[in-house]
Amino acid sequence: MEERLKPMDAEQLRESAHRMVDFIADYYKSIESFPVLSQVEPGYLRKLLPDSAPDHPESLQQVLEDVQAKILPGVTHWQSPNYFAYYPSNSSIAGFMGEMLSAGLNIVGFSWITSPAATELEIIVLDWLAKLLNLPDDFLSTGPGGGVIQGTASEAVLVVLLAARDKFLSRIGKSSLDKLVVYSSDQTHSALQKACQIGGIYPENCRVLKTDASTNYALSPDLLNEVISQDISTGLVPFLLCATVGTTSSTAVDPLPALATVAKRNGMWFHIDAAYAGSACICPEYRPYIDGVEEADSFNMNAHKWFLTNFDCSALWIKDRKALIQALSTNPEFLKNKASQANMVVDYRDWQIPLGRRFRSLKLWMVLRLYGVQNLQQYIRNHIELARQFEDLVIQDPRFEVVTPRIFSLVCFRLLSPDNDGDKGNKLNRDLLDTVNSTGKIFISHTVLSGTYILRFAVGAPLTEERHVNEAWKVLQDEASKLLATIQNN
Ligand code: PLP
Repeated sequence: MEERLKPMDAEQLRESAHRMVDFIADYYKSIESFPVLSQVEPGYLRKLLPDSAPDHPESLQQVLEDVQAKILPGVTHWQSPNYFAYYPSNSSIAGFMGEMLSAGLNIVGFSWITSPAATELEIIVLDWLAKLLNLPDDFLSTGPGGGVIQGTASEAVLVVLLAARDKFLSRIGKSSLDKLVVYSSDQTHSALQKACQIGGIYPENCRVLKTDASTNYALSPDLLNEVISQDISTGLVPFLLCATVGTTSSTAVDPLPALATVAKRNGMWFHIDAAYAGSACICPEYRPYIDGVEEADSFNMNAHKWFLTNFDCSALWIKDRKALIQALSTNPEFLKNKASQANMVVDYRDWQIPLGRRFRSLKLWMVLRLYGVQNLQQYIRNHIELARQFEDLVIQDPRFEVVTPRIFSLVCFRLLSPDNDGDKGNKLNRDLLDTVNSTGKIFISHTVLSGTYILRFAVGAPLTEERHVNEAWKVLQDEASKLLATIQNN
């Protein structure tokens, strides 16, 4: 007779989890042997797995063999030291420990009462991080504001937009939704557009202001002023300005103090998206990039990008938590409890879209405690130095150019077209991206700025060292030489 299922037997857990940790440790040991960008074709996995779930249990060993043989080929190795695409998504031992503990406890902390430690640790850890970033006291839990962990920057900007929208509508009337206008630059992450779509903002009221090389792709306060004046003159209501510190394409930094002045003058909600670059601002020398945050209504950074906190963990601070709670709270009978009713506690379910929430603060707490501030600062500085070295290598090769000034750990560059033709130059760089990524040796990504196709080299994976950067540059040079030779021969 088969044994009854014991899904959480402590001794079985010990044995299986040890094996899984060994498997993961071996993966990290051999991570450089995989092609960084998965080279499989769409639909590859259906051919390898059965059509239906097994009736009877299989062993962990069998499953791990399948992971090795069938799953890993379809994985793009974000933690590879040769990963330089998009922005990094850091894992670390500390983050992993937090993730493991969170999975182990597996609580659902929507209200304080469902696990007081989850709410209270989140409050404390976000206060720590706010102090580390030298955010204004208004963002601390001790005042009318506070911090909350969202899954992603997209959720952060969505809840902010909903809070700002409802704050305005409660003043000007619910029927005025068609009057609310959102402002951002054409470099702002598409997460804002999605938030507008979900939040019912009229598409014709989303102002995406053009940027160009003259401001290094930062939003111009003069242009913003001009557009706002036009909107006001036609009876529209400016309500949300979203600025970015470290844009996704090229790490552009919007001029926060000047933008804050415009937002304030027009009574708008001012949100700052520092999803990637926020981490760098724990270093005093990079903190000036968020000068002006004092005037912001909300500020967001992704600890899961460049802060050694395994995905997901996006920190959002808000000055007026009441606005968020008013937009997102419900009060069903089945969630009522003494602590909530007495207004003695924070119930984070009212600060986010879903009800359920994970114990994510454990990860951030582990990272801060097991590494300490000085190590974290060194970690950031090292990546920025490696990016600077890569930038030097690009500058030294006259066949290439650096396109925008490097600020943090991203280098935007391109191979110059021998005949100076824009379209041919774009094709050349597209081809270079494809050939480089299909070597499997490195993975980089691209963007388009002012119609020009540009390659992005983002340093920030936890295992990346100087030798990886040098080898990556060699791969780029070799593939560029091959491409240029075929052009010359044609
Ligand atoms: N904002 C910026 C500046 C980003 O670079 C990104 C992603 O790279 C996002 C927002 C979206 O991040 P998420 O995946 O956390 O929603």
